[in-house]
Amino acid sequence: MIEFRIRDFLYPRRLLYWRWLLWRSQYYPRERLLSLQWKLLSRMLDHCFEHVPHYRNLFKRLGLKRSDFRRLEDLSKLPILSKDYLIEHHDEFKADNFERFRPRAIQTSGTTGSPLTVYWDSDSNVIEFTCMWRHFSWLGYRLGEPFLDIRSVVMDAPDGYKWNAKCRGLEMSSDIIDASNIGKYAELLRRYRVKLWRGHPAAIDALCRLLSDAGIDDVRPKCVFTASEAVLDHQRRFIEKWTGVPVCDNYGLKEHNVLITQCPQGGYHVAMEYGIVEIIKDDGTPARAGEEGRIVATGLHNKAFPLIRYDTMDYATPTDRACQCGRTLPLVESLTGRVDDRVLTADGKWVSGLHFAFFFPKGIKRAQILQKEKLALDIYIVPNPDFDEGTASFLRKELKRKVGEAMAIRIHTVEEVPYRSCGKFKFVINQMDEKPPK
Ligand SMILES: [Zn+2]
Repeated sequence: MIEFRIRDFLYPRRLLYWRWLLWRSQYYPRERLLSLQWKLLSRMLDHCFEHVPHYRNLFKRLGLKRSDFRRLEDLSKLPILSKDYLIEHHDEFKADNFERFRPRAIQTSGTTGSPLTVYWDSDSNVIEFTCMWRHFSWLGYRLGEPFLDIRSVVMDAPDGYKWNAKCRGLEMSSDIIDASNIGKYAELLRRYRVKLWRGHPAAIDALCRLLSDAGIDDVRPKCVFTASEAVLDHQRRFIEKWTGVPVCDNYGLKEHNVLITQCPQGGYHVAMEYGIVEIIKDDGTPARAGEEGRIVATGLHNKAFPLIRYDTMDYATPTDRACQCGRTLPLVESLTGRVDDRVLTADGKWVSGLHFAFFFPKGIKRAQILQKEKLALDIYIVPNPDFDEGTASFLRKELKRKVGEAMAIRIHTVEEVPYRSCGKFKFVINQMDEKPPK
């Protein structure tokens, strides 16, 4: 849901600076954008050389001096950082002056089911906030207008919604909305005068279908933004048809080092001011236009916990095409890697968002969820030495909150997760004959 810390915005100078710059830089000539990236990267490299143990040791081991980095291309002198390595050497990525940046710990399991703690510092929160603000502005949203955040989540609120007055956000769980109670949730959209909808594409799609079936048509949003999961073609088609506005998708990580935002003309624009995106083929060479590769991301702002050349395990295809919208931020053609199947719960609802159960437990290197029958989930865990029965019972309990008490949760420890296709990883696989409605 919304992560918002008032104290990060007590320094309006930084916020106003990025508000001023980002609205201009999205139309900069490419050379000027590259020079802005180099300026931000240089600052980050200075910091890593001086203050971050992992990078200090790495530069020493590779015999690299600060003067060996003179342009953006020199970044490739550093190896690609895997998530497994990051988890194993986690504390070495914390700057030795970590506290100065007022970091906050955030739990994630990403797309691989591997629990990881990352840190957001105040600079990375400011750039995240202003980049999201810019993205929302592409469809005419003005800061302060009420918005809906709807996801497939277990929410600790009796009616499945919360009003977050700090940022004027209505947070809803799609898991409990159905044909019997849709009128009540439509009334909330009216009461809070929601203008923007954001959230999981499956959750937004389901909400549109329920409203459409109930003949409720006075709560349509003026803009729709999807995030966290890949938006499927049939979802996009229905949402756009019912709302009458384009769906603008958003790709980012909790690691806060890459942001790709879709404009109303359909282009997926890389936010070059936010992070450096390289697209690398499986043979380790950069993908050219039209070739698919993995997104390798370098954050340009988070000094508390810097991640340079981080392998996101998600895939994209670069393109030389210019966007009709006139923005010069480069485009990628397709984004894959967030395409998980949905799970049918014990009470017959299709849900996503099962990652939440894997944020905290210790002892999990990687995980995968398989549903082959209606009332059972098989959880495959690649354990590390901390794995024990406590972790297994925690997972059973958390997952049952989402999928229902009647669901059998069968946990298997394995050496490698069993299901992969073409090297790509899928966290949730559904092999039942019954499929979610389209
Ligand atoms: Zn565009």
